[in-house]
Amino acid sequence: MKEFTFQNTTRLHFGKGMIANLGKEAKSFGDNVLLVYGGGSIKKNGIYDEVLSELKGQNIKVTELSGVEPNPRLSTVNKGVQLAKENNIDLLLAVGGGSVIDCTKAIAVGAASDVDVWDVVTKKAKPDKALPLGTVLTLAATGSEMNANSVITNWEKNEKHGWAHPLVYPSFSILDPVYTYSVPADQTAFGIIDMMSHVIETYFHVETNTPVQDQLAESLLRVCVETGPKLMAEPENYEYRETIMYCGTMALNGVLQMGARGDWGTHNLEHAVSAVHDIPHAGGLAVLFPNWLKQTVEKEVGITRMSRLAEQVFNVDKSNKSEREAALEGIDKLQEFWVNLGAPSRLKDYNIGEDSLGTIADKALVNGSYGSFLTQDREVVEKILRDSL
Ligand code: NAP
Ligand code: FE
Repeated sequence: MKEFTFQNTTRLHFGKGMIANLGKEAKSFGDNVLLVYGGGSIKKNGIYDEVLSELKGQNIKVTELSGVEPNPRLSTVNKGVQLAKENNIDLLLAVGGGSVIDCTKAIAVGAASDVDVWDVVTKKAKPDKALPLGTVLTLAATGSEMNANSVITNWEKNEKHGWAHPLVYPSFSILDPVYTYSVPADQTAFGIIDMMSHVIETYFHVETNTPVQDQLAESLLRVCVETGPKLMAEPENYEYRETIMYCGTMALNGVLQMGARGDWGTHNLEHAVSAVHDIPHAGGLAVLFPNWLKQTVEKEVGITRMSRLAEQVFNVDKSNKSEREAALEGIDKLQEFWVNLGAPSRLKDYNIGEDSLGTIADKALVNGSYGSFLTQDREVVEKILRDSL
């Protein structure tokens, strides 16, 4: 294992009706809340009303920033920074999925000082202050409700980057599985794919002696494989929503990453794709991940890991085949599982053709080669993209 220090400062309220904690939680930060949300799903499903009733119950003044887009943009972050500064905001409250939460984290650092948020996102500046933030999660996927990560797109530059800072752990997060009943089928599937991708990114690490991490990862993946299809068939089943919601948080709240952080190169490549084409994050992952895995087999570094995943998660019988064959069979099973959930398998499903591969590769390699398990240099990046067409 790699040596590590771990602290996660988010207080989690998980379960049916846990919104009842919101009023008191918010009030403990002050009387002025900036409520941040997306394109309006929370108004259709009633979550907005429940949130406002909790805040009004504590006489909290609410300012709103709506319209945070999926793949949240720097321009929206800057709007939020201005609103927060003008209204003397004590607490930022994100109500939505990963996009709304990530946007709120970026507002938190921009509003607390004069730091340029894009400099923080591109790691040219370090924040030294942030406004506190809380979240009400409405979509199980990213783990952003209990981690310090945020992914922001600069649409003028066609760049999308992840950044992280301990100052932006949500102070509290409220997770009610009922709030995810209204998530449409495609976003439900994308959520499952994103959380599985977080586990797989972590699983492909270079550390030794990691039996706890590896078996935890395999368990989370098995649970997604068992529960995902049942949830797709029964979107208002409380237990399935609960399991998947908990799984999304556990996949990326830092617990699984202790002592073995993983690779994260496929996330980097997907960010480059969606910075140019604005596609759903997990739609991109579903296309790219199998081809990244095939490269790890091709270059032999991933044969043992992938064949183990194949056996442990997809019950591939290894008795009658080589490790390499088992690994490749596992990759096929993973892709088949995602496609059956409703995911795309080719970039052309998003009308992305050969002509933009060069631009995507440039964006992915803007800071040079990357990936700790498999080095993605220009040749590997182009190969993965071409295989994904
Ligand atoms: P999202 O972009 O937050 O939301 C996707 C769509 O789902 C939106 O149209 C949203 O509508 C809708 N939606 C959300 N909750 C709903 C509900 N309860 N009922 C009906 N519709 C609902 O999706 P996400 O997958 O959670 O976040 C994706 C972003 O997170 C990407 O930018 C990705 O790069 C990033 N990401 C972050 C991390 C991290 O650790 N921070 C990790 C992985 C990915 P509304 O806009 O109307 O709400
Ligand atoms: Fe992700």
